[in-house]
Amino acid sequence: LGPSGALRRFIADPAQITSNLVQSLRAETTPSAPVERSVHRPVRDPAWPQAVIDGLCDLSSRDALTGLVNRRQFGIALDREIDRVARAGEPALVLMADIDHFKRVNDTHGHAAGDEVLKAVAQRLQECVRPMDTVARHGGEEFAIILPNCAPAFGLAVAERIRRRVEQQPVAIEGGARVAVTISLGGAFAPQWVRSTAGLWLERADQQLFRAKQEGRNRACIEQPPQSQVSAEEKSLLFSLTQFDEEPE
Ligand code: GH3
Ligand code: MG
Ligand code: MG
Repeated sequence: LGPSGALRRFIADPAQITSNLVQSLRAETTPSAPVERSVHRPVRDPAWPQAVIDGLCDLSSRDALTGLVNRRQFGIALDREIDRVARAGEPALVLMADIDHFKRVNDTHGHAAGDEVLKAVAQRLQECVRPMDTVARHGGEEFAIILPNCAPAFGLAVAERIRRRVEQQPVAIEGGARVAVTISLGGAFAPQWVRSTAGLWLERADQQLFRAKQEGRNRACIEQPPQSQVSAEEKSLLFSLTQFDEEPE
């Protein structure tokens, strides 16, 4: 970002962004205004305003703790995926993942350690999906993943791979302790060729997550996609309708 890392310093502290921007804009419109040189100087670079806008967009779409896509940006990505599924008919899976008994981590090791666990889980989720997949922090200790172009036959295998990756490696926290972490996952496929809604799709994945929790946690449950095969009865109905159309009056 930015021509010389100046933007990185500029946005390093989100609380400073607004006041820095206001100062920068003042410096542009009133050259005699008493502003610090470090804030004033980069505005002279023609690439600077665009870099600031890009930086702000990035900030507004990411979760501050984990660096994952935030809930708002996830909603935008989900709507885009629904469009793609309706247009191209490609299968897409959405997974909801929730850390098991996370409250205990906070209670036993403290909130700061809980934050470390959240960051580690976020990194592991990101590591075991494809670059085209979107991993988001959906809130608290809950994550959501969009997997475009994921065939129904692979849904459970993908979710299991993610679950195992988190289970296999305890998280090292400050002070040297290692915290064992597990997640439960629920998943649902978008109905192909049909324009669903983000709310409905997520709700179905959430129901599966609820099932995974009910069935004991540290497991993955995926909704079985409906069979789209035409039954024998439907075939004969279709056939008789065609016959009827062709019959003379
Ligand atoms: P379950 O297996 O049923 O999901 O149990 P749980 O303990 O994970 O779920 P519960 O909803 O009871 O607790 C979630 C906890 O997550 C409570 C809340 O304080 C904690 N939490 C939410 N956001 C953060 C955060 O940003 N940092 C930390 N350290 N804790 C958080
Ligand atoms: Mg939980
Ligand atoms: Mg939860």
